[in-house]
Amino acid sequence: MTVTTPATPITATPTIPHWRGNTPFAGTSTRTAPVYNPATGAVAKLVTLASAADVDTVVAAALAAFPGWRDSSQAKRQAVMFAFRELLNARKGELADILTAEHGKVTADALGEIARGLEVVEFALGMPHLTKGDYSENVSTGVDVYTLRQPLGVVGIISPFNFPAMVPLWFFPVAIAAGNTVVLKPSEKDPSAANWMAALFAEAGLPDGVFNVVHGDKEAVDALLVHPDVQSISFVGSTPIAKYIYETAAGHGKRVQALGGAKNHMLVLPDADLDLAADAAVNAGFGSAGERCMAISVIVAVEPVTDDLITKITERMSGLRVGDGLRGCDMGPLITEAHRDKVAGYIDVAAADGAEVVVDGRGVEVDGEASGFWLGPTLFDKVTVDSAVYIDEIFGPVLSIVRVDSYAEGLALINRSRYGNGTAIFTNDGGAARRFQNEVQVGMVGINVPIPVPVAYHSFGGWKDSLFGASKAYGPAGVDFFTREKAVTSRWLDPSHGGINLGFPQHD
Ligand code: NAD
Repeated sequence: MTVTTPATPITATPTIPHWRGNTPFAGTSTRTAPVYNPATGAVAKLVTLASAADVDTVVAAALAAFPGWRDSSQAKRQAVMFAFRELLNARKGELADILTAEHGKVTADALGEIARGLEVVEFALGMPHLTKGDYSENVSTGVDVYTLRQPLGVVGIISPFNFPAMVPLWFFPVAIAAGNTVVLKPSEKDPSAANWMAALFAEAGLPDGVFNVVHGDKEAVDALLVHPDVQSISFVGSTPIAKYIYETAAGHGKRVQALGGAKNHMLVLPDADLDLAADAAVNAGFGSAGERCMAISVIVAVEPVTDDLITKITERMSGLRVGDGLRGCDMGPLITEAHRDKVAGYIDVAAADGAEVVVDGRGVEVDGEASGFWLGPTLFDKVTVDSAVYIDEIFGPVLSIVRVDSYAEGLALINRSRYGNGTAIFTNDGGAARRFQNEVQVGMVGINVPIPVPVAYHSFGGWKDSLFGASKAYGPAGVDFFTREKAVTSRWLDPSHGGINLGFPQHD
């Protein structure tokens, strides 16, 4: 028998390493997870899953870098941040391709995500203005009091799969501009964007160890949550994990901001422009295949407009092209096969619970390989509020319609939700909109705006089970989170101030 060597050597699936001290770091763990291309269903890469010992090594690099970065001048930090901004803007196409390859979102949406992340880098460029302290002269004779805003030290960031670039960018530019050093634990489902951004920051001149990436699952996260050298945790993900992160990290003395899941309602009043409302519902419901924490998932329609609204929404849905994100489609695949199956399972639940399945996304015609994780846009009418379809965060291209008879009934429904991330009202009545912004129990409100993600110089965060901890992300809240205030009371020596006095200090 003759054995022939194959003409094309079999190449191993590439493995994504951690990033420590401005170089790739393999770590000691041998555990890995598959990273799929959701548009083909193929395993494209493997990602290393860190052990607690690997986390220790990465945190040690961040800790060693902290004194140098903390003490570097504001001018130097700003110069590096500016170079990073320029590089990211010039090369955003490369990053968009990485997002599409691992997340599946279409190119235009990937570029939109990067643009919103870039906004935070630009905000961080102006941070010296926000980290200035206060100064009070002569609070007592010859005594001055002033405050300093200082960085925390090593800060941990744990991010979800749905925005592999934007969500880390909500945090690390602000943390780094403030003088902290960072350990980012991105989602293991689409990990490459984190390494790409870290390498770009190194190219921009960021010193070794200031921005590090550790890949992993619960083992890596747990190691960060209890690590004595990690001062704070910024988390974004699902509500059960956000709650766990908040409780565990706070229990270990850390500052925590933990942003959770959502079920965003859009209230459509009878006087609304129904064409604009239908556009908004389709864009915000099916953009990024509904895998956005600010996606609209429930339309609360105040009668008698629902039938007309459904006609307009279904007309628009029939024009959507689902397929490979690189082919100019409107909507890409879901992140994994398991998640696609879970989301598709809600179609049977809706029917069993008495809702009307107006559009069933299973079997959608796709511009892509059949093996991708596809589900087409799906619409339910007459969803009941006791159905899992209404209660659960489905996180897919599924819109539910709940019919109500009045503004008050719609508002009460929104306020009963355990989530309070985003909401929107569609109306031409300024008084109703103003009343809604006052009465709704939700952290981010859109008035004729379906995805009201605040710009970078405001702050992002929900209420109720959509955010655990006191601090929102980026903007002024981000600066507060990543700095701590120190108050200094100072008197320069003068013999006239001597003498013994055991009483509590008073001012004269
Ligand atoms: P997820 O909660 O499954 O994972 C988020 C992060 O936590 C990942 O890095 C993951 O590795 C880690 N993790 C997962 N299980 C863990 C466990 N048992 N212990 C410790 N760590 C664990 O979320 P996801 O599926 O990646 O992202 C989607 C969710 O994120 C949705 O619920 C969405 O609403 C939410 N989200 C919220 C916001 C917001 O701003 N509120 C923004 C984006 C996404």
